[in-house]
Amino acid sequence: MQKSVLILGGGLAGLTAAKRLTDRGFAVKLIEKRPIYGGKVSSWKDEEGDWIESGTHCFFGAYDVLYDLMREIGVYDAVLWKDHKLTYTLAGGSSFTFNTWDLPSPLHLVPAIVKNGYFRFGEMFSFSKSLIPLALKKDRYPPTQDHLTFTEWAKQHRFGDRLLEKMFRPMALALKFIPPEEISAKIILDVTEVFYRIPGASCMGFLKGAPQEHLIGPLLEYSKAKGAEFLPGTAAEQLLYEGGEIRGVRMTNGEVLAADYYLCALPIHNLNKVLPDSLKKEGSFFGDLEKLKGVPVISVQIWYDRQITSENNVLFSPDGVIPVYADLASTTPDYRTLRGKPHEGKSRFEFCVAPAGELMALSKEEIIERVDRSIRSCFPQTSKGAEILKSTLVKIPRSVYAPLPNMEQYRPTQKTPVSNLFLAGGFTRQLYYDSMGGAVMSANLASEEIVRAAGG
Ligand SMILES: Cc1cc2nc3c(=O)[nH]c(=O)nc-3n(C[C@H](O)[C@H](O)[C@H](O)COP(=O)(O)OP(=O)(O)OC[C@H]3O[C@@H](n4cnc5c(N)ncnc54)[C@H](O)[C@@H]3O)c2cc1C
Repeated sequence: MQKSVLILGGGLAGLTAAKRLTDRGFAVKLIEKRPIYGGKVSSWKDEEGDWIESGTHCFFGAYDVLYDLMREIGVYDAVLWKDHKLTYTLAGGSSFTFNTWDLPSPLHLVPAIVKNGYFRFGEMFSFSKSLIPLALKKDRYPPTQDHLTFTEWAKQHRFGDRLLEKMFRPMALALKFIPPEEISAKIILDVTEVFYRIPGASCMGFLKGAPQEHLIGPLLEYSKAKGAEFLPGTAAEQLLYEGGEIRGVRMTNGEVLAADYYLCALPIHNLNKVLPDSLKKEGSFFGDLEKLKGVPVISVQIWYDRQITSENNVLFSPDGVIPVYADLASTTPDYRTLRGKPHEGKSRFEFCVAPAGELMALSKEEIIERVDRSIRSCFPQTSKGAEILKSTLVKIPRSVYAPLPNMEQYRPTQKTPVSNLFLAGGFTRQLYYDSMGGAVMSANLASEEIVRAAGG
C-alpha cells in the first residue's frame, strides 16, 4: 500500500524532499505557512512589478547536490557562472582580487596568494603556513577546531590582523552573517578546505532571474505533476506525540493532518515551537535543539540612475555594512528592469547587510542611508552625483542557524529517536553548513531515511 508523508515547510529542503519522495512512490502532502514557497530563497514581485528576494543567493561551485537536483528538473542552465575570482572593494575606492588559475589543486590558488594586489607576501606566507594542518588532515581538521571562534584560531596561528579584518571579516559575514569573533573556526576552515581541495568550488554563479522562476517554481511544479499535494498559507502548530510516535499535526486553524511519516523542514526556531514539550527533555536529542538560534540579517536593493560598477560577479567589502553584494543589473539579466521598464546600463544592487542585530530596530530610511554611504565610499568616483531611483528592504530576524563555537554537536541528524519523525533543513547535520547545498543535501538524507523506514 502507498505510504504517506506529511512535509512541514516549503523551503528548499521541504520542496526537495517532496520531489525525492514523490519520485519514490510516496503520497506526499506539504504544508507551508506563507502564501509563497522557497523560504529563505523565496522571491516575489512587489506592487510595482519588481522582484524582491529574501536575500542575494550565490551558487558556489561546490554544491554538486543542488546542481544534480536542478538538472533533474531541467533548470540547471539558469545558473550563470561568473569569472573564477573573488573581489573585495574597500572604502576610498581601491579593491583587490583573488584570482585563480585553471590548474589542479593547490596550484589553482597561486595567483590568489602571490598577486592579489593588496596583501604583502609575508602576510600571505604566514597565512599559507597556518593552512598546513588543513592541507595534511583535509576535511578531518575543521571539526577539531569547533571549540574556537575564527578570531581565536587566527590569533593562535599568528597571521596578521589585516587578513582577518579585510579578508575574513566579510567572508564570515557573507557566509553566516556573524563576525569572525563569533563564528566557529570550523565554518571558515571547512570552506577554506573545500576551496583549497576542489579547484572549481569557489567559482560563483547567479541565477539568470528570480529563484521563483528558475528554481522554486519548477521544483514545486515537478512534484505537483507527479501527484504531490501542496497547501500554501497553512501553518503547523504542534506535533501530536503519543505512544512513542507522531499521530498527527495540529494546524493553527485547528485541523489535524495525519500521515505515516512526518518530515519537519522548518527553520530551527519554528521546529522548536511545533515540538511537544514532552519530547524536549534537557540533554535529549530534541532538547538540545533549543541551543541552536537563528541569526538576523537584512537584504537591501538599490536602483541607481547610473552604472556604479561594471563588475559582473559577487563583491565583498570589509568596510561599512555591506559584506557581500552584487550589481544584479550585471549578474542577473532578468533583473535589468525598474517598475516594468528597462534599467539597462544602470546599477541595481542587492546587498546583504550584516551584522544586522543592532540595525534591526532602525527605520528603512536609516538603513538605506547606511548602505548608500557604504557603496559610495567603495566607489567614490562613479557614484558622484548618483541618485537613488528606488530601494527595497527585507528584514529576517531569524535566518540561518548561528554556527557559534561548540554548536556542531547540537545539529541533529535527519533520523530522530521517534520512528516516524524526520528532520530536514540547512541546520541539520550534513556536509555543508546552512546553505542551498545544505538544504538539498539534508532533504536527500531525510528522504533516504524515510525510504529505509518504509522498508525500501
Ligand atoms: C539573506 C540570505 C542570503 C543567503 N545567501 C545564500 C547564498 O548566497 N548561498 C547559499 O547557498 N545560501 C544562502 N542562504 C542560505 C539559504 O537560503 C538557506 O540555507 C536555505 O534556503 C535553507 O532552506 P531550508 O528549506 O532549510 O529553510 P527555509 O528556507 O527557512 O524553509 C523553511 C520553510 O518553513 C516554513 N515554515 C515555518 N514555520 C512553519 C510552520 N509552522 N508551518 C508550516 N511551514 C512553516 C517557512 O515559511 C519556510 O518556507 C542565504 C540566506 C539568507 C537569509
